[in-house]
Amino acid sequence: MLKDQDRIFTNLYGMHDRSLAGAKSRGHWDGTAGILKNGREWIVDQMKASGLRGRGGAGFPTGLKWSFMPKESDGRPAYLVINADESEPGTCKDREIMRHDPHTLIEGALIASFAMNAHTCYIYLRGEYIREREALQAAIDECYDAGLLGKNACKSGWAFDVFLHHGAGAYICGEETALLESLEGKKGMPRMKPPFPAGAGLYGCPTTVNNVESIAVVPTILRRGPEWFSSFGRPNNVGTKLFGISGHVNNPCVVEEAMSITFEELIDRHCGGIRGGWDNLKAVIPGGSSVPMLPADVMRDGAIMDFDWLREQRSGLGTAAVIVMDQSTDVIKAIWRLSKFYKHESCGQCTPCREGTGWMMRVMDRLVKGTAEVEEIDMLLDITKQVEGHTICALGDAAAWPIQGLVRHFREEIEDRLKASKTGRMGAMAAE
Ligand code: SF4
Repeated sequence: MLKDQDRIFTNLYGMHDRSLAGAKSRGHWDGTAGILKNGREWIVDQMKASGLRGRGGAGFPTGLKWSFMPKESDGRPAYLVINADESEPGTCKDREIMRHDPHTLIEGALIASFAMNAHTCYIYLRGEYIREREALQAAIDECYDAGLLGKNACKSGWAFDVFLHHGAGAYICGEETALLESLEGKKGMPRMKPPFPAGAGLYGCPTTVNNVESIAVVPTILRRGPEWFSSFGRPNNVGTKLFGISGHVNNPCVVEEAMSITFEELIDRHCGGIRGGWDNLKAVIPGGSSVPMLPADVMRDGAIMDFDWLREQRSGLGTAAVIVMDQSTDVIKAIWRLSKFYKHESCGQCTPCREGTGWMMRVMDRLVKGTAEVEEIDMLLDITKQVEGHTICALGDAAAWPIQGLVRHFREEIEDRLKASKTGRMGAMAAE
């Protein structure tokens, strides 16, 4: 279990003072100018050495991403954009950073921007995050007043500004290029890649888009050293991580833990166990709504909560939003609900996603009600394959994968329901 002295987020639950004075008393903003004095290359190298992988879902190495930014400006400004859209169902970790520990993010924004030659950072905030915006803005104002931001940030000689931008609540704006479009004042529709944001991002300028947690952990990593950070977890899956556990556990929570913790330890230590006991566990979505669910037998007996182990099980760590479902769950209906969500949130610019999400939702609807034919299960799988990998952005995959996970692990339950409805033995589990 992660020791208290190794926690990066020391005010995750808002029990302490979140103001600048409070943050400083907990070790934040300590020697920031000294970190900047080490230079850009040093910071990027330290981040590479730490092994930090992006915390927004894709798990791309953060230091490597930063190194894609041009070393010298060709006259265009560079930008850091922090993705605080956090709209993935089940995910609620970044909001705890923003409302209770906002200085970790602002200090991280300064250091990361400096490392990428950016004088400006935008934080793109989810539309519904009103309190989070207020807390962040108050923290930013404090920093300007204290000279930590502005023309001579932290007396480092580096001019640096942070701006908050409030989205209007569309899930697709969490996709990095849709986010940039929205930030530019256009409709939030993903762009074709390439060009990648590091070449032509915000206003056509070099841009890096990073998740809130990825940036907020930076100052502590640089203060304590990359070896400290990489001492947690398994190789290639290192560091501490915020897990957000919801659903049928006794005590749903967001908690910072070491990567590669086992699922059982995570649930027993922090969530008071599964509702009704471990034998009552039915399925788990381990990384937010877009990753495939895994059945109880896979998640028991030493399931490891990290990128590689979950990928080997054909699922993923995603945002580490762990959704736990007990035996009372109608898993078919649960996935239908996600299908409905993705259909609603598709931006509509590519055909496989625009049409496919609707098709998938309608077949799922019939599976829930038991009115489909058994052959339609394979037809549904076929549609997911035609959507997956054939779209501009990852929403198509995100809509396809939960259904694939459902069929892979619960085909029998679906078939039972279809057969039961034909014979008039329709169970009480079917949706209204
Ligand atoms: Fe839009 Fe869907 Fe295409 Fe993404 S995959 S660009 S959400 S239509």
